Amino acid sequence: MAGRSELIVVGNGMVGHRFVELLISEGRTNDFRVTVIGEETRPAYDRVGLSSYFAGKTADDLTLVEPGSYERAGIEVRRGDRIIAIDRAGKTVALASGDVLRYDQLVLATGSYPFVPPVEGRNAPGAFVYRTIEDLQAMEAYAAKAKIGVVIGGGLLGLEAANALQNLGLETHVVELAPRLMSLQVDDIGGAVLRRRIEALGVTVHLGALTTRIVTNADGAVAALALKDGTELPADMVVFSAGIRPRDELGRAVGLDLGERGGIEIDDRCRTSDPSIYAIGECAAYNDRVYGLVAPGYHMARVAASALAGHGGEAFTGYDMSTKLKLMGVDVASFGDAFASTHGAHVISVVDTLAEVYKKLVISPDKQRLLGGVLVGDAANYGQLVQLVQNRIPLPPHPEDLLIPPRAGEKSAGLGVDALPETAQICSCHNVSKGQICGAIGEKKLTAVGGIKECTKAGTGCGSCVTLISEILTKELRKAGVVVSKRLCEHFDHSRQELYHLVRLHGIRSFDELLAQHGQGRGCEICKPAVASILASAWNEHILDRKHLPLQDSNDRFLANIQRDGTYSVVPRVAGGEITPDKLIVLGEVAKRYGLYTKITGGQRIDLFGARLEQLPEIWRDLVAAGFESGHAYGKALRTVKSCVGSTWCRYGVQDSVSFAVRVENRYKGLRSPHKLKSAVSGCARECAEAQSKDFGIIATDKGYNLYLCGNGGMKPQHAQLFATDLDEETVIKYLDRFLMFYIRTADRLQRTASWFNNLEGGLPYLRQVLIDDTLGICAELEAEMALVVDTYQCEWKTAIEDPEKLKRFRPFVNTTKSDPSIVFIRQRDQHRPAFWDEKTDVAATLFGEGERVLDKKSA
Ligand SMILES: Cc1cc2nc3c(=O)[nH]c(=O)nc-3n(C[C@H](O)[C@H](O)[C@H](O)COP(=O)(O)OP(=O)(O)OC[C@H]3O[C@@H](n4cnc5c(N)ncnc54)[C@H](O)[C@@H]3O)c2cc1C
Repeated sequence: MAGRSELIVVGNGMVGHRFVELLISEGRTNDFRVTVIGEETRPAYDRVGLSSYFAGKTADDLTLVEPGSYERAGIEVRRGDRIIAIDRAGKTVALASGDVLRYDQLVLATGSYPFVPPVEGRNAPGAFVYRTIEDLQAMEAYAAKAKIGVVIGGGLLGLEAANALQNLGLETHVVELAPRLMSLQVDDIGGAVLRRRIEALGVTVHLGALTTRIVTNADGAVAALALKDGTELPADMVVFSAGIRPRDELGRAVGLDLGERGGIEIDDRCRTSDPSIYAIGECAAYNDRVYGLVAPGYHMARVAASALAGHGGEAFTGYDMSTKLKLMGVDVASFGDAFASTHGAHVISVVDTLAEVYKKLVISPDKQRLLGGVLVGDAANYGQLVQLVQNRIPLPPHPEDLLIPPRAGEKSAGLGVDALPETAQICSCHNVSKGQICGAIGEKKLTAVGGIKECTKAGTGCGSCVTLISEILTKELRKAGVVVSKRLCEHFDHSRQELYHLVRLHGIRSFDELLAQHGQGRGCEICKPAVASILASAWNEHILDRKHLPLQDSNDRFLANIQRDGTYSVVPRVAGGEITPDKLIVLGEVAKRYGLYTKITGGQRIDLFGARLEQLPEIWRDLVAAGFESGHAYGKALRTVKSCVGSTWCRYGVQDSVSFAVRVENRYKGLRSPHKLKSAVSGCARECAEAQSKDFGIIATDKGYNLYLCGNGGMKPQHAQLFATDLDEETVIKYLDRFLMFYIRTADRLQRTASWFNNLEGGLPYLRQVLIDDTLGICAELEAEMALVVDTYQCEWKTAIEDPEKLKRFRPFVNTTKSDPSIVFIRQRDQHRPAFWDEKTDVAATLFGEGERVLDKKSA
């Protein structure tokens, strides 16, 4: 089409692509002949989600460009080529390939590059940056021969890179010059809480540490970091994540105005100092400020697209840098005036050192409005709080209630999505309001977040508004009288039960396969552990296998329960509560050797507390050598089968309850389920093992055993139901196989057997029909499924200590002689326990990050 203006877009990253998408959707390709030049060889991809590459995502999964969409719109794309110069007078650009192209309008969307401090050794083999898929591929290849990885920089990207190194099985360190992590987003207390949570995951954090040199070995490869304090930190790999710098070189070379700290300066229409040239995304600076997040970049793309179309339209007048991230599974959010810089502002904050959660709200001097805040460890109400700030909604009478999560069944103290005006901007990346989302739900009859994303694009940028979108959806559906579906989360429109069936039916063995075939997006903290549990129940593969590891909850990741002081508990299985004197002695010896606190638990076993992460493999080596196995105390799995001594010793006992309990526990040990499972066998009706408060309880009778199902101790006790009477052992086992697999198949995530039963239509008679009379004809299948689990049992700890790959997660930190300063033990009744907060004299120092101190009073 002759006569159309020539529009060249330089860069096909996230923002450049968004700009092109807008041109296409608004029909601007009729006005312009559009050419896109991208230096990377692949189409634009989701850089925000880059780290999911290490969780198994492929480059194709990350792509943002619908195949053929550019071509269909008549857009010419040249990938793997680069603009090397602009001729402003002649209005041409020169490409690295030698071509020269004419433009009428030029849009620079060249992004930024990772800043690498000018230290000696920065280019040595083993040194990396973290920006492109190719960077990640190179890291992955190198990590195969590396043991220790160090990230320089403790900001957002640094922590993402640290997570990647950990997932690659490396002992991981973060070296940060500032006195806290994520210094741009969180304050001192938030940084300290974040540090403790990150360290609890096995990453060592070095604050206030300046890297002066990368030390290389005889082959010239990375061997260590030399720090300013004179120490050396051994390292096989180093990832620089010390900030980004705008790629403004094209504009700089032709005299375009630049921001004070770089970036091509733009006006509020995203025009540079040359009216024919626009700049958007991370290469642009507005009022001397460069924005390193995707949402402001997308806003710039909208503004530039409307400016080129000649609309008065939108203007770019700066951007709120509110962000919510999930770093290594830890929620971190910062919004509005997070640092309380407004004169006279008030602050309300909560530091919960039990849960390692920090929440701070900054309130206007007149106490009427929320100005900003910081959330670490729990950012569930981030969306609501940001809306309070952005829409200047008056605070509720007790704003402190906004910091406390509602208990189950209680209404949130927040004002809820109903309080938001229709104009409230829910998705800032794509500028989608509450009214637009509600409109789409009503008009298109949407019932899932996925549909809203597709129709409105809301939630498809940085993703931080997805929780809010889901709340709006639920409210709208309720208002319309629609039954809210039991879909697992926004990534799967199926219930847990349906996913279980899909996994089994199609022989699906990994989260990625399931997501690709039956889900969408990248997955979240709801669906990942739920699918991990389904896969484990179905196929019983080791949970630390590479493809399953990133899905696991943090306790499962370390095959141990993390305690309130950041140490771990060690819980060996003691089937039926029966233990030999020799094994008792081993437990005592191990506890003494590693300085562990010992406690006999309600589940009839002996827990050992106070183990440091790096001690776990050694402790378990000793225990496994003595014949112990994992007790799965960390997993949603079978815990214990308690017993009384039964007819073997007791005058009243009518059956050998210990032998049967040992048999039952050994049969179901390792079985993963929607929630933990507890059991007991009592040797007579006096019920000393308390079997009626268990998920499955067995009580001896003169003729055999009565079987009770779906009981519950804990916060809401419920007696188990008498399911069948006077059964022999074989029949008990048969019914249990069927019951457990039926529950695993059909329960919701995190639903104990008691609440599952309470929701089961038809109640006990139905359960008997299905499991005894086989009215659904599934009993053979259920038994076969259980047989597979029983036959493939492995002690997770035994496998882990025999596999160097799995052990990498627990490797002792070679350079760390200092203890975690926050771990303080207090002597009590000849053992020790973790100090309570008010017992730690150096609390302030720990919180405010005044550097590490050895406060370990273990032997006090
Ligand atoms: C690991 C990681 C995690 C992140 N997480 C978040 C997050 O959680 N939330 C958030 O908001 N942001 C996050 N970001 C930042 C976000 O990815 C960026 O803000 C966004 O990608 C910026 O888009 P852009 O198009 O400006 O730059 P880019 O996406 O970098 O694209 C620029 C493109 O231009 C190309 N280019 C450069 N020069 C030329 C040239 N001369 N000729 C041709 N092509 C050229 C580059 O090769 C590149 O492909 C993250 C970034 C990374 C690396």
